[in-house]
Amino acid sequence: MTRTAVITGSTSGIGLAIARALAKTGANIVLNGFGAADEIRTVSDEVAGLTSGTVLHHAADMTKPSEIADMMAMVVDRFGGADILVNNAGVQFVEKIEDFPVDQWDRIIAVNLSSSFHTIRAAIPPMKKKGWGRIINIASAHGLVASPFKSAYVAAKHGIMGLTKTVALEVAESGITANSICPGYVLTPLVEKQIPDQARTRGITEEQVINEVMLKGQPTKKFITVEQVASLALYLASDDAAQITGTHVSMDGGWTAQ
Ligand code: NAD
Repeated sequence: MTRTAVITGSTSGIGLAIARALAKTGANIVLNGFGAADEIRTVSDEVAGLTSGTVLHHAADMTKPSEIADMMAMVVDRFGGADILVNNAGVQFVEKIEDFPVDQWDRIIAVNLSSSFHTIRAAIPPMKKKGWGRIINIASAHGLVASPFKSAYVAAKHGIMGLTKTVALEVAESGITANSICPGYVLTPLVEKQIPDQARTRGITEEQVINEVMLKGQPTKKFITVEQVASLALYLASDDAAQITGTHVSMDGGWTAQ
C-alpha cells in the first residue's frame, strides 16, 4: 500500500529533508512552500527521483485558511487523503515585545500555529476512515522554554505542543498518533547564511558566531542536521511508533536539560 505524506514548508530545510526521507519509503509526497518556479521544479524532480510514488507541489500560503483547505481537498481528490501529515512550515521574527510589529505577530501565529489547526482538521476524517494516521508537528526547543525577543515564535511553539496533545487524545482509539518534534539549533540554509552576516555585524569570527552566539545554549556545541530530524520523523511515522502519541521528542543537544 502506497502511503501519502503531506509536508508543509518542504521546499527547503527540515521540511525538504523529511520529504526526501519519506520519499525513500516509496510514499506519494505532497510538497508545499515558497520558492521560484524553477527552484520548486528542481526540488520536486529531485524528490520524485527518490520514490516510486507521485510527487506534487501545492503552493498554499499557510497564512490563508482557504488555500490550506484547497491543498487538503486536492490531497483527498488525488490520494484519498494524507496518511502522514507533517506540519513543518515556520517563520521567525525577533524584536522586544513592546516594539514587536502586530503584523509579524499575526503572521507567526498563523504559519507556526493556526495552519496546523487547518491541516489537521482536514486530515483527520480520511485518516479515521482508514484507521491509520500520523501527525507530526515540528515544534522547537522553544515549545518548551523561552528566549527573549521571540514572543510570537515561543507562544506559537508552546501552542503547537498543546494542540498536539489535544488532537492525540481525541484520535487515540482511531489508529492515529500526534506528536511534536522539538529541535534545537538545526543547520539549515537559512541558519548557514546568517553566520557570515552575524560575524560581520558583530565584528567576531564565524567560529565565535557558531560557538558563542548560536550554540551558546546547546551543550553539545554542535548543530543538529536536517537528516537527523528527518530520521526521527520517519520513525514517528512508522508502525513501530504506534504507541508514541500526545508527546514530544526533543532533539536539542541537551538545551532543555539545563
Ligand atoms: P526554512 O526557512 O529552511 O523552511 C521553511 C519552509 O516553510 C520553506 O519551505 C518556506 O517556503 C515555508 N514557508 C514559510 N512561510 C510559509 C507560508 N506562509 N506558507 C507556506 N510555506 C511557508 O526553515 P527550517 O529551519 O527548515 O524550519 C522548519 C521548521 O522547523 C519551522 O517550523 C521552524 O520553526 C522549525 N525549527 C527550526 C529550527 C532551526 O534551527 N532551523 C529549530 C527548531 C525548529
